[in-house]
Amino acid sequence: MHKYLIRFDEICLKGGNRRYFEDILVKNIKASANTLGKNRIEFLRDRIYVEFDLSISCKDIEALLMKIAGICDFSKITTCESDLDKIYQVAKTLTSDLSGTFKVEAKRNYKKFPQKSPEIARLVGSAVYIEDKLTVDLSNPEHKLYVHVYKEETLLYCKKTQGPGGLPVGSSGRLLSLVSGGIDSPVASWNMFQRGCRVVFAHFHNHHDEEKDVRDKVMTLVKTLSSYQPYTRLYMIPFGELQRAIIGFVPSKMRMVSYRRMMFRIASIIRHKEKCKGYITGDSVGQVASQTLDNLRAIHDVADYPVISPLIGQNKNEVMANARKIGTYDTSIIPYDDCCSFLLDPHPEQAIDLHEIREIEAQIPMVDVIRPCIENTKVIAFEMGKLVYEKNAGIKIPQGFEDRLRP
Ligand code: ATP
Ligand code: MG
Repeated sequence: MHKYLIRFDEICLKGGNRRYFEDILVKNIKASANTLGKNRIEFLRDRIYVEFDLSISCKDIEALLMKIAGICDFSKITTCESDLDKIYQVAKTLTSDLSGTFKVEAKRNYKKFPQKSPEIARLVGSAVYIEDKLTVDLSNPEHKLYVHVYKEETLLYCKKTQGPGGLPVGSSGRLLSLVSGGIDSPVASWNMFQRGCRVVFAHFHNHHDEEKDVRDKVMTLVKTLSSYQPYTRLYMIPFGELQRAIIGFVPSKMRMVSYRRMMFRIASIIRHKEKCKGYITGDSVGQVASQTLDNLRAIHDVADYPVISPLIGQNKNEVMANARKIGTYDTSIIPYDDCCSFLLDPHPEQAIDLHEIREIEAQIPMVDVIRPCIENTKVIAFEMGKLVYEKNAGIKIPQGFEDRLRP
């Protein structure tokens, strides 16, 4: 079996709640590991081991571990009996391909082991030392060999690979992400995975059933993001009829903001159904006309729960770098028609007057325009990067919500 040692960092700071976070992390690792094939997970007080069948490639295993929020770093390890001769043998095999300078970092977790940590490091160092090929450098070595001595076994490894860190998905509650086909909102959603949030997705579209391009694009983006959490649902909300209904009320300069206010009204129904505690958007101050501080204020005005925009202070370059890292960039840059650009003035209003837009929207028969959007919403489910089902979401405007939807 390929054996990996997994470490977690932020969870360690959780004091009495630590167990809660650890259990979720182990469950998430199990769900991910099952997508690769035969595996075994063992959770010991301060570490997690995962073993995978030898038929599974280490490249696939490591790509998978790099996606699991809560993992601080991981190492492919070799284990042996806690006996010095056995330890020397493994140490020699692990370092046989290395050349240059090295250092042994030993840790004696089993306090009855006869040698103390510095002594173990010295002895193992001498065993692998080869004149001209591997020389010791204690202050700035090119390679490190880690030796952890436990009562039942000793683990050895040379490399630590960084994981995403943060908190395990599912430990902080749920958020509803308003995801467009662009670069930003997928990255914003991924940011919140790292903070332990489970993310449900909602996308508004104005294409017909036969126009599959935008739909396929958003599905591909969410499918990619679905490999970062165990279960994922995407709500596809038809928005075209509503847009056609409101253009007679809202002047073209204000439509962009009005569309986004309508999105929040509709999203509140899905948030309620999914028991989410807030929204995620990909907004970043000043990026486009809808994201001036005044317009963000006008948009968030209708949100019933907190709007979390993790990219709010980030520059496009940083966001693009993250989009590449998480695998959404290539899909995001495919050109598409975002529904927000439907019948807009080429120079949209940069500072919407909140009272004015409220007055204008007061003319719109809100419930009548929202009901068909909600009733024709589809839900698509993914499990770790795989499509599971697609069906009508069967949502109705909940009782008591009709009043909330009015401006
Ligand atoms: P993105 O790259 O995420 O598309 P953007 O820079 O194009 O962002 P806008 O089009 O102004 O910016 O959208 C800002 C935010 O509004 C998006 O990040 C997303 O959260 C939300 N949003 C925009 N269009 C849609 C849509 N069609 N469906 C759901 N959410 C949307
Ligand atoms: Mg967009």
